[in-house]
Amino acid sequence: MPNPTFSTRILDWFDLHGRKNLPWQIFSEDQNQNTYRVWLSEVMLQQTQVATVIPYFARFLQTFPTVSHLASAPQDEVLHLWTGLGYYARARNLHKCAQTVATVFGGNFPIGVEALEQLPGIGRSTAGAIASIAQGQTAAILDGNVKRVLARHGAISGWPGKSDVVKRLWHIAEKYTPSKRCNHYTQAMMDLGATLCSRSKPQCEFCPVSSDCIARSQDNPTDYPGKKPKKDKPVKTAQLLMLRNPMGELLLQQRPQTGIWGGLWSFPELDSGHDASAGVLDTFLNGNEDNLGPVEEWDAYRHTFSHYHFDITPVLIQLNRDPTQINECDQSLWYNLHNPKNVGLAAPVKKLLSKLKALDPLN
Ligand code: SF4
Repeated sequence: MPNPTFSTRILDWFDLHGRKNLPWQIFSEDQNQNTYRVWLSEVMLQQTQVATVIPYFARFLQTFPTVSHLASAPQDEVLHLWTGLGYYARARNLHKCAQTVATVFGGNFPIGVEALEQLPGIGRSTAGAIASIAQGQTAAILDGNVKRVLARHGAISGWPGKSDVVKRLWHIAEKYTPSKRCNHYTQAMMDLGATLCSRSKPQCEFCPVSSDCIARSQDNPTDYPGKKPKKDKPVKTAQLLMLRNPMGELLLQQRPQTGIWGGLWSFPELDSGHDASAGVLDTFLNGNEDNLGPVEEWDAYRHTFSHYHFDITPVLIQLNRDPTQINECDQSLWYNLHNPKNVGLAAPVKKLLSKLKALDPLN
């Protein structure tokens, strides 16, 4: 007997095993609100697992119940709620997208892949997921999980970052996408990749498409998809200056919108190799040595970004004068460890602030 089609088997599997109770799967008659929820979840789920996303999703919805609420929020509040999810460009684009929906589309998300793809931060696969799950459209997706399933099932070799490989995978994704129950099929493909067809230990014996999976028959599923060609990551180094005023508050500065930690708040940075005390005297204290208290260099540690390693040396610098007498630069604030402002913090800065709080005698 011939195998049922790929999508039939996937849908049958979804009926038995697919995830149906995720917080963003609560749908109403209001298609725009459904689109808002699915869009929010899809952006959060890029590079991040479901269990991590759930509490963030709940907090976002509680604070910004509709896309219009999100659009009118200050960026700092959005970044603050995003703190810890990483890849902050997603949060900035999320905010920009909400503002575009509010101002250009009157608060209603446009319908369909092509229109959604024009919005900030929405690529072809995310647009496909939103259109199929929230808008009842037939649309293919190809996120990381689906790439893995399709590359293994069809034994498509090569790294999916290469255009010819990704083109082949899109072609297959579109060929298999059914016109009926596309919403369930989309969810099922994401679930299959996240559960059975996992990166290192695929459980092929339970997989609905194992009978014609070429990688399984070759006994080499983990060879697919092809790995990214290795390149040594460059290493950058810097000192993070933790300037503490007599009230125990720490000086934070907002970083430019572009570049690492764009729009987030961080400690002032100084090139490694420079004398931290001299740097602080020059930049913040008008050369007045009386204002400079003890300086303590902490152990360096490494923070790794997708494209380079960042070796950070934190330096704690006590200041003897009231902050109002210090030359403050624009976009800076004194962060009170016990009564913190709602601002977006880069992950290493958040960690250092927690450590400082633990060391604080007022704690
Ligand atoms: S049979 Fe195994 S390798 Fe093939 S798609 Fe299923 S889980 Fe993945």
